[in-house]
Amino acid sequence: MGFCGWFGKTLRVNLSTGIITEENIGQKVLSDWIGGRGIGAWVVAGEVPACCDPLGEENKLVFATGPLTGAGVPGAGRFSASAKSPLTGTILDSNAGGRWGIRLKKNGYDMLIIEGTSAGPVYLKIEEGTASLHEAGDLWGADVRETNDKLKDKLGNETSIACIGPAGENLVKFASVMNDGHRALGRGGLGAVMGAKKLKAVAAKGSRKVEVANKEKFDFMIYEAGKWLKANPITSQGLPEFGTPVLVKLFNALGVFPTRNFQGSQYPDALNISGETIAELMTAGRKGCYGCPVQCARLLKTKTGTTLGPEYESIWALGPECGIGDLDTIVEANHLCNQLGLDTVSTGVTIGCTMELEEKGIFNTGLSFGDTTGMLRAIKQIAYREGDGDLLAEGSRRLAERCGAGQYAMQVKGLELTAYDPRGLQGMGLGFATSNRGGCHLRAYMAGPEALGVPKMVDRFSAGGKAGLTITQQNVSAAIDSLIACRFINLAVSEEYFARILSAVTGVDYQTQDLHRIGERIWNLERLFNLREGFDCSHDTLPPRLLEEPIQEGPSSGSVVELKPMLEEYYRFRGWNESGVPSPGKLRELGLEDFKC
Ligand code: SF4
Repeated sequence: MGFCGWFGKTLRVNLSTGIITEENIGQKVLSDWIGGRGIGAWVVAGEVPACCDPLGEENKLVFATGPLTGAGVPGAGRFSASAKSPLTGTILDSNAGGRWGIRLKKNGYDMLIIEGTSAGPVYLKIEEGTASLHEAGDLWGADVRETNDKLKDKLGNETSIACIGPAGENLVKFASVMNDGHRALGRGGLGAVMGAKKLKAVAAKGSRKVEVANKEKFDFMIYEAGKWLKANPITSQGLPEFGTPVLVKLFNALGVFPTRNFQGSQYPDALNISGETIAELMTAGRKGCYGCPVQCARLLKTKTGTTLGPEYESIWALGPECGIGDLDTIVEANHLCNQLGLDTVSTGVTIGCTMELEEKGIFNTGLSFGDTTGMLRAIKQIAYREGDGDLLAEGSRRLAERCGAGQYAMQVKGLELTAYDPRGLQGMGLGFATSNRGGCHLRAYMAGPEALGVPKMVDRFSAGGKAGLTITQQNVSAAIDSLIACRFINLAVSEEYFARILSAVTGVDYQTQDLHRIGERIWNLERLFNLREGFDCSHDTLPPRLLEEPIQEGPSSGSVVELKPMLEEYYRFRGWNESGVPSPGKLRELGLEDFKC
């Protein structure tokens, strides 16, 4: 049968043998898992052997597009990559915008599975449905810009590149994969997985058309989405004018903007690093994902040229989290991380942890809070694993544990936390603790209801009612990450819109509740994978500081995260037992009873 939205094809590349094959994907698999994170989880859970080394030959790297990718839906030109994480040992996915995903899809593939390990550096070229491996010794050691430029010179400007920098080659546990020069699959170390496989880059160029099942309904939904995006102040004003840094002032004002490794929760000079200040002093233009009207990224003027500006999370991680408020340094550090192929959040939080260990006399590196030169030096040392950078390259949890001071690592399941102090946002605390990939704010963006009033405002200090809301957000995010659509777009358009446009593109009838059910299935499969890898309820927790030490000052002072009652309710509502294991009935209900954990 013919497909709309999907092509029903996987490209599988075995780097150990050099064998490249094309496989069919069944309609039921596509309908049940949609694409992106969902189908990535289905492959990783089904094909990656239990307890394998994430940097070994057995781990697989799954690049997946979604049925909306390349179909012309605003904010849905994205792709994702999934694997077992070398940073956390959990299942991992990360998604990015740019053009690479569209160009992969337009080769006629929904998915690219990379397996095995190459004997020497290679890059993969995929052009108009034909794939080939090429020697990449001359690219090994190059940073992201150089790799991108060299491959584009060779393959043409219509080719998109996803590649690793020196950090991925050196197996830094939080190395990123960068695509289209500046877009990042940032979290969890996918760059290290690619580096371990000796795969420097994947170049994609394609022009096949993505068929849409119901053009009339599709056009109407695109028209509707345009109206909603214009009507919403976040997507029509906040993000286009200031980008995600618009959040700096708000979260700082609420006293939930962590500083100095979460020792403080407000930064006195936050205004200097806010979206408004960046717009006034540095912004040279707007950029964004292909076909998206919001264009939320900023092109910034620097002393040496232009660069793409840091997002909210990066400003925080490379700034106040390290006691740094100098905008030029933050912009330079962000640029450096992107060129070396490092996740900005894990880099900043690991350096912040190092600074606290120095402050407490536990680990003597000479790196103190506020040390701008030291931070820039540390970033390079991490990427090349030089000196103390070799230990920092393992991430904050391993670093702190090796110093006998694990409590100072601000992480969950090994993934560094992001720019929200959950002591003043109780639901964020539950979301962090239960996140399947570790300390991630995107699995359940409870700051939406707790601080932005999206979809409606709730009491941020109350633990009551947060379990149900967190579960809903986690399930919805799993479905949206499978379409794959941008979360910012989801601030303006509802799940109902996504169900309707998905139906229009694929011709499969999806209702809103179907997306919730698919999201729940994905969430439970990810949970089963993690249980199989040795995670249990003891890992659904937060750093002791957030549970025991109240915020000292500001509008959130006096608060700690009341995790225990939220977690008990969360397990119950999920249909899991008190140890956080899904019940046989829940697994049958979701069609997951055959997965062995
Ligand atoms: S809102 Fe920003 S990140 Fe999202 S699709 Fe548009 S440009 Fe890309």
